[in-house]
Amino acid sequence: MVKICCIGAGYVGGPTMAMIALKCPKVEVAVVDISVQRINAWNSDSLPIYEPGLYEVVKQCRGINLFFSADVEKHVSEADIIFVSVNTPTKTRGLGAGKAADLTYWESAARMIADVAKSNKIVVEKSTVPVKTAEAIEKILTHNAKGINFQILSNPEFLAEGTAISDLLNPDRVLIGGRETPEGKKAVQALKDVYAQWVPTDRILCTNLWSAELSKLAANAFLAQRISSVNAMSALCEATGADVSQVSHAIGTDSRIGPKFMNASVGFGGSCFQKDILNLVYICECNGLPEVANYWKQVIKVNDYQKTRFVNRVVSSMFNTVSGKKIAILGFAFKKDTGDTRETPAIDVCKGLLGDKARLSIFDPQVPEEQIMRDLSMNKFDWDHPVHLQPTSSNPVQQEVGVVFDAYEATKDAHGICVLTEWDEFRKLDFQKIYNNMQKPAFVFDGRNIMDVEKLREIGFIVYSIGKPLDP
Ligand code: NAD
Repeated sequence: MVKICCIGAGYVGGPTMAMIALKCPKVEVAVVDISVQRINAWNSDSLPIYEPGLYEVVKQCRGINLFFSADVEKHVSEADIIFVSVNTPTKTRGLGAGKAADLTYWESAARMIADVAKSNKIVVEKSTVPVKTAEAIEKILTHNAKGINFQILSNPEFLAEGTAISDLLNPDRVLIGGRETPEGKKAVQALKDVYAQWVPTDRILCTNLWSAELSKLAANAFLAQRISSVNAMSALCEATGADVSQVSHAIGTDSRIGPKFMNASVGFGGSCFQKDILNLVYICECNGLPEVANYWKQVIKVNDYQKTRFVNRVVSSMFNTVSGKKIAILGFAFKKDTGDTRETPAIDVCKGLLGDKARLSIFDPQVPEEQIMRDLSMNKFDWDHPVHLQPTSSNPVQQEVGVVFDAYEATKDAHGICVLTEWDEFRKLDFQKIYNNMQKPAFVFDGRNIMDVEKLREIGFIVYSIGKPLDP
């Protein structure tokens, strides 16, 4: 029986390994993590991450061929194939702070593998890492474990949070990069055999190591660039009376452009897009390509501008001040169907409104209160002037923010509503009831363009949607 171990039981390691266990009943899969709390949650009925369909898959395999354990060394030493899916955040201090990937977790995982390995291993980069990381990992492994053959593969993950299970079940492609030596080819084939249990072989792409590593950064940069392109267009739409949905539809029907990923919004978030573009920027700079670095930097700058523009619109619409006014925040997660708030635009929007002394009442169906409070208490990381992330010293958050358990409570007596996550349940709210319980005039600022604007205007709301003509 092939034994697989995955180091890192997070948003990627957990679902990916659950899918391998489901589709490869003859493979034994162990997911390990240094966080005992996270492992306990994976072994309970209340999984550490919310992802539609995940619980069902885990329940089917857990204890049969899928195991979650904090005994990292035992499972690593027994495995034939070791995936490393640890976090690779942006460095917050030292060389490359604010841009470069922090590979501390990766390096300590690699050193631990070298310490405990007693037989040949295939080590798979599942985390998103800078191009050429495999070279560094090879050095760490081979210098620390003499006589053992390690084959390093790059197998970046393309799942999106909120749709992880369907993305894993039916991926657009699986990418495997390896060395072009006989041992390298053998390792690629071993990993290909795992995925081939359910992924059509024409969707399994094999490349050299560096192409696989760079493709992941490039894919995220292209996706984020598309969002910033539509958002940049949304600002021009608002200035001219064009409607960004009509413009997106008109250009998306061109088959070279295509209709997907064309929605204007308050901005992209999540743990990956910004971090991976910053990483790309750093790699370009290190390779003497400042113009290319500046090109990608602009994608993030437009994203920041979109969040600022949204806050400014809220304040200016509400007679240039939100001081003392209650504003309901509907949605805090960076997208629907996840409880993940890493880099969510809601953080910047809430902080912007708090800066103008608003009182906030926040509701998100999946994000707990302590997570929201923690996110709002952290200083924003400024990548042009990096300082270490720390709690703000004068902290208005405790007094000015309330987290509540439903949208009706959040909107009661509010002057305005900001929709910041596209949760389906927000579309189904009884807006007449909400309007009746709000201060007048009552405003809706739709940061995701999910609301029925006409209906809201009929009720009496003043509505702002991104990139759309303003209230008549
Ligand atoms: P995560 O923070 O949810 O999970 C990482 C886990 O690794 C944590 O639970 C942490 O405790 C554990 N860990 C760290 N060092 C360890 C060690 N030495 N030994 C054992 N466990 C250790 O992160 P994530 O969102 O799953 O992302 C993991 C990687 O995948 C990142 O590189 C990310 O860029 C990439 N990625 C993420 C997504 C996504 O949607 N979240 C998608 C594709 C790729």
